[in-house]
Amino acid sequence: MRYYELRRSPGHRDPTYSGGYEGRHQWGLPGAVCPTCHGEWATLGLDYPAVDLSSLPIEREYRKARQTMWDEYARLRDAVLPLLPAGALVAPGTHLGPLVGRARGNLPPVVLQESWRLLVHGDVLKQLEDARLTGVTPVEARISGSKRGPLYELALMPQGRLAPECQLRFYGSGPCATCGEQEYDIPEPWWIDATNPPSLDLVRFAVMPTFILASERCVEVLGELLTLSGVIAVEVPTAPPLGPHRGVQP
Ligand SMILES: [Zn+2]
Repeated sequence: MRYYELRRSPGHRDPTYSGGYEGRHQWGLPGAVCPTCHGEWATLGLDYPAVDLSSLPIEREYRKARQTMWDEYARLRDAVLPLLPAGALVAPGTHLGPLVGRARGNLPPVVLQESWRLLVHGDVLKQLEDARLTGVTPVEARISGSKRGPLYELALMPQGRLAPECQLRFYGSGPCATCGEQEYDIPEPWWIDATNPPSLDLVRFAVMPTFILASERCVEVLGELLTLSGVIAVEVPTAPPLGPHRGVQP
């Protein structure tokens, strides 16, 4: 099964759909500063819109985006771990709960305003569901004013690995004793481990959470809707590149 990275390409977008939205998730974990390694940690793309904190007694502490010391972050993280789906990756800056905000102008059928956040309108969701694609977990966004109807954020699970030949390059003597973090580089070029591919049609790349990966079938089902929406599907390599460019579909 081939996988494609969904990538923003505003130049391809049908000019009819020039709208956008402003919004943020209802809750989140703060960014964190570690007193031991002095790292300031915040990860983009770890969004779990289906997680509902409203029954948590300390729910209010998750409403404001901010940066805290590591201990405070760890306390807030530990309190929500039981509410997260199995297999979730959690890090400082994780977002939780539905998107809340408002639309302006005419939004496209598929909304990839940030590369790591995939929203679709109801008609597109129906196509994905009718095709029985896996990994499609819609959460209705509280984005008001969308002319095409309600918007659904797709809650994505982190999956996928780098191939053994192109693993992360870590710096320093090992993970920090306090936060467990360690600085690293992702080698270039990289390719995914074809022997452990994602098991779902739509996932977040666990190594780089800002990358949304869609199966070949998912890209086929979405077809023209992607192009109209200013989204291109770039094939994710499963082997070292032969030439300087990665394949683009369509
Ligand atoms: Zn640390």
